Amino acid sequence: MNRHLFLRLLLALFTTGVLSAENIHVEPAFWWSGMKNPELQLMVYGKDIARYRPSVDYPGVRLKQAVTLESPNYLLIYLDVAEAHPGQFSIRFTQGKRSFDYPYELKQRQPQADAIQGFDASDVLYLIMPDRFANGDPTNDQIPMRTPYQVDRQNPNARHGGDLAGIEQHLDYLNDLGVTAIWLNPVLENDMKGGSYHGYATTDYYRVDPRLGTNEAYVQLIEQAHQRGMKVVMDMIFNHCGSDHPWMKDVPSHDWFNHLFTDPKEYVQTNHDKEAYFDPYVSDFDKDAMINGWFVPSMPDLNQRNPHVAKYLIQNSIWWIEYSRVDGIRQDTYPYADVDMMRQWCEEVMNEYPNYNIVGEAWMNYTIGSAYWQTGSRLNFGQDTKLKSVMDFRLMGIASQAFREGNLQTLFEHLCYDYVYPDIYHVLRFLENHDTDRFLPTLPIDASSLYAFKQGVTFLLTIPGIPQLYYGQELLMNGNKSKGDGYIRLDVPGGWPGDPVNQFERAGRSSVQNEAWDFLRALLHWRRGNEVIAYGRMKHFMVYQDVYVYERSRGDKSYLIFLNGSRHGVDLPLARYAEVIQGRKVARDVLTGQEVALGQSLSLEGKGVRILEL
Ligand code: CA
Repeated sequence: MNRHLFLRLLLALFTTGVLSAENIHVEPAFWWSGMKNPELQLMVYGKDIARYRPSVDYPGVRLKQAVTLESPNYLLIYLDVAEAHPGQFSIRFTQGKRSFDYPYELKQRQPQADAIQGFDASDVLYLIMPDRFANGDPTNDQIPMRTPYQVDRQNPNARHGGDLAGIEQHLDYLNDLGVTAIWLNPVLENDMKGGSYHGYATTDYYRVDPRLGTNEAYVQLIEQAHQRGMKVVMDMIFNHCGSDHPWMKDVPSHDWFNHLFTDPKEYVQTNHDKEAYFDPYVSDFDKDAMINGWFVPSMPDLNQRNPHVAKYLIQNSIWWIEYSRVDGIRQDTYPYADVDMMRQWCEEVMNEYPNYNIVGEAWMNYTIGSAYWQTGSRLNFGQDTKLKSVMDFRLMGIASQAFREGNLQTLFEHLCYDYVYPDIYHVLRFLENHDTDRFLPTLPIDASSLYAFKQGVTFLLTIPGIPQLYYGQELLMNGNKSKGDGYIRLDVPGGWPGDPVNQFERAGRSSVQNEAWDFLRALLHWRRGNEVIAYGRMKHFMVYQDVYVYERSRGDKSYLIFLNGSRHGVDLPLARYAEVIQGRKVARDVLTGQEVALGQSLSLEGKGVRILEL
């Protein structure tokens, strides 16, 4: 054979794509035997893999279907693993006389005795943006990625270097503060231009972003949290991925994304018309734009009506639960994805983990819109979402002004509408998150801010629902979105080696900050394990003499909460509260520990807070 012919043959081999186990990629990398749903989808990626015929010879594993897509570089294999025992087996890929074997593993599922309990109203969630909390491993700040980025703490839109190790190093801080669960903004790979520090543009659904850590580091963080009796909530995004996801470089099929190949080719933006689901006058045009338009140009809109996309996403979420034992899920942009697929997802997760909890982000400005999304709602005309928990965005929208201005009647009026929720104990309540202005939007942090903070967190932690704090709230961290999202996602001073001030420690905080921190810590420790506050009934009284009074009760235990909206001290007559005082003459002040006589009136300081245990 002359050299020229040899080279031509070699070239032919490469261009026809001789595949082997080493140059294909299979997702998920492994699965479990003993799952309730017997079906397993494998997405195989490799050059011209669609030309290969897969086969499996392993007891209990049956090949149901092999599906090719429009790109020849994908092959979907559907297996029935209902009867399979844990172990390794080979998937054989055959093309003509050529074949190769790919090793695959079914692990043993965790025993049911270790069932995951989810999170509920007895928990307090603490939301962390991992890039901005603490940098526990500076060696992963600036590392080689496919897409260029520059770590720069001076740039509010760049990556700053925070990571999972930094969170793990501060679990004791969080445990001491008294929160029971941490919700992390998304931790999966965002190999995007500029770094995509916020995590909402996924480029690999099975890999923790290496700038935050590894998959193993994520599991370790959850184990470390569990050892302290704390839970972890995972942020997931089914509506969209990142524009640098491999699916956008080699599109599996034209209907993998919405409006990717719209004719004429034109970018279609979502209109955020979340009312489209119940608006009696909605147009098809607006509803399509809402659900199928893209969130932003860098976040292509996945088509969950494509059953292969749906299966991929659902299976991915179950993989993360089984792999990491993560305790709950917060699902991003809930109404922007296909509602039928999302219902199926909730059902499938709850089928595998019956006590699980999922909270969906449906950013609705009115209570009736939030309640529409909760399972059991009679407002959605029989289209039950199966979604256990929803978010009270309305409270976030009114709380800052109400507490700073002392107009507490707006909070009373807001809670009146709790009646539309099928399950108020699965409504996430919060004063701020990574997408909103801080509760304290501007400087200075002075005594009046401190009063607003104390009343705000007291209210948040004593009304029915699942309270959620946002990192830095305990430090009176402030800021608003007017200059950009980076200003509501500031670094915690002391989270980075060499920071001049460390606010994770008492000495690094101002006296006002320490007063806020101590107040919040006392409340959180009092709330931990407090079933009256977690699951008890609520009764409230219209604001009178600027004071908002409400009761939480369960069995023969009850608490009375007094919030004084006025700057002036009040001697509040107690006669109108007779139905909750029930003739009792004495109570214990939870915050001071002192006994309080329940006489004709109760004295409250200006902007004061009192919690009385009856
Ligand atoms: Ca780092």
